[in-house]
Amino acid sequence: MNSVDPAAIDVSTVVDVCADLIRIDTQNFGDDPRTMPERPAADYVVEYLKRYGYDPVIIESKPGRANVILRVPGSDPELPALVVHGHLDVVPAIREDWTVDPFAGEVKDGYVWGRGAVDMKNMDAMILVVLADMKIRGWQPERELIVAFFADEEAGGVWGAQWLVDHHPELFEGATEAISEVGGYSVRVGDETVYLIQTGEKGMDWLTLTAHGRPGHGSQVNNENAITKLASAITRIGEWDWPIQLTDTVLTLLLKVSEITGVPFSEDPKDLGALVAELGPAAPFVGATLSTQANPTRLGGGYKENVIPGSATGAVDMRPLPGTEDEAHAIIEDLAGEGVDVSSIVRTTGFEVSFETEIVERMSQALLAEDPAAIIVPYLMSGGTDNKPLKSLGINGYGFVPMALPADFNFSAMFHGNDERIPVASLEFGTRALARFLAS
Ligand SMILES: [Zn+2]
Repeated sequence: MNSVDPAAIDVSTVVDVCADLIRIDTQNFGDDPRTMPERPAADYVVEYLKRYGYDPVIIESKPGRANVILRVPGSDPELPALVVHGHLDVVPAIREDWTVDPFAGEVKDGYVWGRGAVDMKNMDAMILVVLADMKIRGWQPERELIVAFFADEEAGGVWGAQWLVDHHPELFEGATEAISEVGGYSVRVGDETVYLIQTGEKGMDWLTLTAHGRPGHGSQVNNENAITKLASAITRIGEWDWPIQLTDTVLTLLLKVSEITGVPFSEDPKDLGALVAELGPAAPFVGATLSTQANPTRLGGGYKENVIPGSATGAVDMRPLPGTEDEAHAIIEDLAGEGVDVSSIVRTTGFEVSFETEIVERMSQALLAEDPAAIIVPYLMSGGTDNKPLKSLGINGYGFVPMALPADFNFSAMFHGNDERIPVASLEFGTRALARFLAS
């Protein structure tokens, strides 16, 4: 046990650290040359940690694409290690679409503004401030920590978490669980404050459709037109009605929301829609987890009005429910039909972890200590995080960035949105709750 009260942490610096990180432009455009290296942000993290006597290492997957790794011994060496991770890259921001400079790290009206303020330089800053506090006041986390700041999360982690898992799995040796982004935040449901802990992620299957046909003159009869075939396939896929299938996580969540609000629960899609709506700003996150989604996202083909091309291509972004990845892929192949090839460009497997675990209990205790009226529920995420590659090492990942948010704050719109910002009070709350959680 620590004799230091973790909640007495000085949280006054977390805003500055978050703003500093926002000022380091780490926009990730994927393969595009506009992608900014994470190295300057990694250097900042390393310098910060060294100031407090830590010895982190930088591991570059390729020049500039930097990850930071640090092991922090736990007070109980018998316990398995916990991975605490954040990513250093951010999605691009277009200056004209914002009311502030997205990379100025402005603090005004009670918010820290800028790209990364919620995704996820907020958590990066919270982790750093808690680690600093451990040294300043002399306390230890109970479990050994493997602290990781990853590159490239916003482009699938190819040069970040996935690369480290593939090339340096030993870095994560001894870890059984992980915490990271998109969970632990509050929403108002009825009269209650509900905290959503992320206990699963849908799969992802980015598909290319290629229709083959008979090329020829645009004036002639052609019943093997690649453009027509592709358009039909895309329409069938886009209009496909995926059945509602409630996973354990989604079922637990919706039953809880029903209990709080009195809105009846049944498998009727209308009732489910009403329940999801009760989640307010989190509804877009949850609404997409009742079934698989497959959205057509690109169409291309042809080069002249009077020439029928021999082929045409389209793209589909499919997010299958965890455990249904193969089945969903087969459905897409069926819908695409004869003469249209389907291939996966990026394909990941979803997962679901238990909500009835000791680590969730500790998350709950940390939240309840800060907000005694908190109701804690699990949810499934429709997108993906770096917890996915870690899962392939047998590490169960949770979304836990503790944040008490104002009831009218549209949190889900902040992710990859314009005028991304985080309330200062939420950052400070989160830092205290994270310290409590790590100390417990
Ligand atoms: Zn993120």
